[in-house]
Amino acid sequence: MRVSTFQIIKGRIANVRKLLLEVSEDCNLRCRYCVYSGKFLDRRAHSNRLMSWDMAKKIHRLFLQLAG
Ligand code: SF4
Repeated sequence: MRVSTFQIIKGRIANVRKLLLEVSEDCNLRCRYCVYSGKFLDRRAHSNRLMSWDMAKKIHRLFLQLAG
């Protein structure tokens, strides 16, 4: 029996009770050791990109659908 990606994700977050959205890539602390400092390969660097309100609402809706 094949299991859909939706079912796999739903199974993995079935007991998750918190949703944390990283709505900005623009942390103002800028620690030297930060994984987002731009010194690490294959990692994004700090930027002024923000998550849109529409995207945050979509994620929230999906989370409630999967975790509920
Ligand atoms: S480690 Fe990176 S993301 Fe965390 S507080 Fe420092 S600069 Fe910000």
